[in-house]
Amino acid sequence: MSDCLFCKIVGGQIPAKLVHQDADTVAIVDINPQAPTHLLVISRKHVPTMNDLAPEDDALVGKMFRVAAKLAQERGIAEPGWRAVMNANRDGGQTVFHIHLHVLGGRHMRWPPG
Ligand code: AMP
Ligand code: ZN
Repeated sequence: MSDCLFCKIVGGQIPAKLVHQDADTVAIVDINPQAPTHLLVISRKHVPTMNDLAPEDDALVGKMFRVAAKLAQERGIAEPGWRAVMNANRDGGQTVFHIHLHVLGGRHMRWPPG
């Protein structure tokens, strides 16, 4: 997708603070952090929302969670606790239409989310 922000970050056309990359995902520091640790695990494949996931994406989504857990461990938030969030569409609060997993930690998370 030529006009997708996260495709451009994955492709290196827009700079970002990379914290991880592999064949399926890229992880970056969120530009507008909502917690002391706020990372985004972005799929290399352009999938607009969770609503668009196909059976062939099962391994990709599993990988995104495993990368999130690895990053949580590295950042020291795994043991105290952290949250993974994926928003979908308007009511879910999605603003970038390319799937990404938010990794949030370093403070106590409230429930229910706002
Ligand atoms: P969402 O609202 O779930 O679609 O999440 C999009 C996230 O991307 C937000 O937390 C933004 O702060 C973040 N974001 C937007 N542009 C950039 C950027 N250029 N680099 C890093 N994070 C970004
Ligand atoms: Zn994209």
